[in-house]
Amino acid sequence: MKIALVTGGSRGIGRAVCIKLAEMDFYVLINYHKNSDAAKKTLEYVKKAGSDGELMPFDISNPEHIENALNNWKENNKEKYISVLINNAGIRKDNLMIWLTDREWHDVINTNLNSFYNITRHLLQDMLVKKFGRIVNIVSLSGIKGLPGQVNYSAAKAGVIGATKALAQEVGKKNVTVNSVAPGYIKTDMTKDIDESDYRKIIPLGRFGTPQEVANLAGFLVSEDASYITGEVVSVNGGLYT
Ligand code: NDP
Repeated sequence: MKIALVTGGSRGIGRAVCIKLAEMDFYVLINYHKNSDAAKKTLEYVKKAGSDGELMPFDISNPEHIENALNNWKENNKEKYISVLINNAGIRKDNLMIWLTDREWHDVINTNLNSFYNITRHLLQDMLVKKFGRIVNIVSLSGIKGLPGQVNYSAAKAGVIGATKALAQEVGKKNVTVNSVAPGYIKTDMTKDIDESDYRKIIPLGRFGTPQEVANLAGFLVSEDASYITGEVVSVNGGLYT
């Protein structure tokens, strides 16, 4: 069975990606931080979709936690390897630059950018040895055009976009693809403080997107049908100008 790791799989876009991958017959490793009830619910959905998986809690902003969790899994699964990685988990801590605290800067950079480095490099070696891997990074419209109040978040997501393009060129010859998905406004806990009606007029499709609409693209990018696509950043944003 092919094995996929989805960071932030307990809720929102990550949960939808876990379900999508389960429908595609992946065994899904569901990472989350603290919300174990939500993560268990995702596992139930994965099973309902006809596949299986397990919970893998660790704090993606902490390199030691990542190292321990992934080493433990490897120790208990010596014959297996994780061929699909969805770097999805992320946080927002918005503030205007002039008031941004060191904490808000570092938390967002550690969670949204440094996690990409720490998790991906850990799994990359197996993908290269096995000559197959799919890495999908969930970035943001913010990382493409920059959004006021999100200097930290825009910097982190733009960093992952640059890393996507560079890494894709490093590992293409080993049949490892690296792509980014850039959502616009998607209905999840992350956007529950944003009033959809304020944005209807500026989004050509006239609404926020759903987590499933993002998951559909992530599923496609890890499928055989996307085998010649790498180094790309694909938007799922209802036509919002980027
Ligand atoms: P949610 O806030 O709904 O869910 C966040 C997920 O990330 C949860 O599963 C949470 O785990 C996990 N998480 C957060 N911090 C950590 C951590 N330190 N370690 C491990 N897991 C962590 O977010 P969305 O589903 O909306 O967002 C998913 C991704 O999509 C993010 O990268 C976000 O930046 C990006 N995005 C979202 C957009 C949107 O409109 N929603 C738009 C553009 C991009 P737990 O449940 O344990 O807290």
